[in-house]
Amino acid sequence: MNLIIHRGTKEIGGSCVELKTAKTRIIVDLGIPLVDIKKERFNTKVLEGKTIPQLKKLGILPQVKGLYRNEKRSIDAIFISHCHLDHYGFLRYVHPDIPVYMSQGSSRLIEASNIFLPQKTTGFKAVIIEKRKKVKVGDFSITACLVDHSGFDALAFLIQSGKKRLFYSGDFRGHGRKSALFERMINNPPRDIDCLVMEGTMFGRGKQKFKNETDIEKKMVKMLRNKKNITFFFSSSQNIDRLVSAYRACLQADTIFVIDVYTAFILHILGSFSKHLPQYNWKNVRVKFFKSHVDSLAKTEHKDLIYKFNTEKIEIEEIKQKREKILMILRDNSLFPIMLKSLGKTVEMAIIYSMWEGYLKDEFVRNCKEKGISIIQIHTAGHAIGKDLKQFAAALNPKTLVPIHTFEPQEFLGLHKNVKILRDKEVFEI
Ligand SMILES: [Zn+2]
Repeated sequence: MNLIIHRGTKEIGGSCVELKTAKTRIIVDLGIPLVDIKKERFNTKVLEGKTIPQLKKLGILPQVKGLYRNEKRSIDAIFISHCHLDHYGFLRYVHPDIPVYMSQGSSRLIEASNIFLPQKTTGFKAVIIEKRKKVKVGDFSITACLVDHSGFDALAFLIQSGKKRLFYSGDFRGHGRKSALFERMINNPPRDIDCLVMEGTMFGRGKQKFKNETDIEKKMVKMLRNKKNITFFFSSSQNIDRLVSAYRACLQADTIFVIDVYTAFILHILGSFSKHLPQYNWKNVRVKFFKSHVDSLAKTEHKDLIYKFNTEKIEIEEIKQKREKILMILRDNSLFPIMLKSLGKTVEMAIIYSMWEGYLKDEFVRNCKEKGISIIQIHTAGHAIGKDLKQFAAALNPKTLVPIHTFEPQEFLGLHKNVKILRDKEVFEI
């Protein structure tokens, strides 16, 4: 089989991998880039109003023949590792007849994003892939394995063709709430791997302050016990491990966890996966209604949930009264200034910043400081740190290790004896 990484050999985001034989071509991941050609943050506004040929010409959409809806289809299937936009965000451009395999969790989260977020990913044919069950597509057979990652229900893929075996790690880590999956993989790795295509996000990102979710939970408890005003929780509502950490911290610190309708919806639709995901009607959980969220949900078949969430609704007056007993999920968007205005007295408010620090803008930090709002960073990465990457590569012991999803591919040279750093679009025969 041939491996072609269309994008991702030297960057994080926009992953697109093609595997082909004489008869069959499959694509693994099809994400939106996180950086542009100048290595600056990719602005999704450049996508607006552009046709597929224009986006291909600009080098934004990968140059994969037979993938897009304006072409004669020649791609047999697409496999999506997880529900982060830098892995699935370009699905809206693909040919509608191509089956797109993904986990049930990813499919539900894409559905939730389509309801609440401005970027819609629709028009593709989703097929749910079961873990540890082989899927045959032409010359390939593909087996999905669940991995520990900040993206919920994330997968790695074992891809075989004839006697050749490739393992695509997707994004993964060994320090999340599902770290047992990492241990299991290390102790019982897939054998006879010819090529391991492995992520390396953490190279170049510096040392982590918090080792794992337990560390995060402990730090949050400590902080919440000493609060004198409301604490905001800046986190992705799709980072389910982190929501669980925050909820557990709230229980221990006698704090009300205020979630919004969007977060309540996500936890509800993923509730069938695990009994441990906090729900809107659980102890210490309340729901804050924002009009935009309610309006979005009201347009869908899930509109009855609004009445359910309403039983646990918290109004601004109650938030004001109980401010020092509240942890409220919010983000650095238009809702934040609105909340500040309605709450008054900002002194001694705090923000638990639970996202990658690269997203924290100087201007925002300055504004908070002026208002007396402290920002405390409590975060651990969704990606494996160097020592775990090394352990992973050693356990799988592939004939060749190929870096992907990294700005520092040369760091891989210290991980394994046979590392092949590819260029984007280079054809590599396995
Ligand atoms: Zn990811």
